[in-house]
Amino acid sequence: MKKQNLVPVFLGLISIFGYSCQPAFYTEADYFKVPKIDAHVHILTTEASLTEHLTSEKLRLITINVNAGEDVNTQRDTAVTLAKKFPGHICYLATFAFDTAVWNGDNWEQETIAALGRNISGGAVGVKLWKNIGMTERDRAGNFIMVSNSRFDPVISFIEQQGLPLTGHLGEPKNCWLPTDSMTVNNDKRYFKRHPEYHMYLHPEYPTYQDQLDARDNMLAKHPNLKFIGCHLGSEEWSVDELAKKLDRFPNMAVDLAARICHLQYQSAKNKEKVRDFLIKYQDRILYGTDINYSGSKLDSMFYAGIRTTRIKDWNYFTGEMELKSPDIDSPFTGLHLPKQVVDKIFYRNAVKWYKLEK
Ligand SMILES: [Zn+2]
Repeated sequence: MKKQNLVPVFLGLISIFGYSCQPAFYTEADYFKVPKIDAHVHILTTEASLTEHLTSEKLRLITINVNAGEDVNTQRDTAVTLAKKFPGHICYLATFAFDTAVWNGDNWEQETIAALGRNISGGAVGVKLWKNIGMTERDRAGNFIMVSNSRFDPVISFIEQQGLPLTGHLGEPKNCWLPTDSMTVNNDKRYFKRHPEYHMYLHPEYPTYQDQLDARDNMLAKHPNLKFIGCHLGSEEWSVDELAKKLDRFPNMAVDLAARICHLQYQSAKNKEKVRDFLIKYQDRILYGTDINYSGSKLDSMFYAGIRTTRIKDWNYFTGEMELKSPDIDSPFTGLHLPKQVVDKIFYRNAVKWYKLEK
């Protein structure tokens, strides 16, 4: 081979093996430079002055309407106003109000589809189903209404026909069914001590943890083409092994990380490589989210500073390799040091893909 031909060969090898001058990992400083989507927030006010917050952090938000708190139509109007006020920065998930009286009649399916149609017409990018299905709603005989009930099938088919994903917060963390001293993370221990009414360990008359997962899985088995995003690590936050089995079983399922990153950190403290391998293997099916809730009750600047700190801590956990601590778990843990392309997917590209957002 002539000497002058070696340079292009060498450059070709560089591109084949992916070597470049760019570092393969992000630093904390990159947080502000890289586009990100928080795919799980609840913004309940149109007054928030979000422009500076969103542009300085290169951040987009998916605000999720939910069948709790404020009337769902008011939530829709707020979300549509926010999407118009911050185009390209905010989009929303629609929902519907579950009405037991209507369920007990003959037209629940039709009325729910009509209500959903109205709520997605403002440009929703998906539909949210909340844990009241499975955890609180009961039929006239007193039985809990589970998402696997065949009456949900036409509603779910409607969502599918609209080309929208279903985003489900179904069930609760497994800790909810355990005695407090067997729970893994401290925030669950605190929460269920404060709210014994929601601590299912104390309420054996309610459906079990497994009942919740079975209902969700039976529903997914009936709708194999449905794009489903399981909120909060699909309520299988306690074990990346179990979650991996579920993602293998349901190829159209993804999960968001909202309010469950501490459960990954808990598992990281025991076996960092296992969590890291899981995130790399399922890098196309994990969406970053915080579950922050904002109704304008605090000063905007205080709220933004607080939530920015949370997001940067999360960023450092996924990108860095330092030892970290969290009040939510007792042991220190180490950053996962995920490659850039995995971080890009978790923090941005997966939300674009699963919710069909504009890039
Ligand atoms: Zn939420």
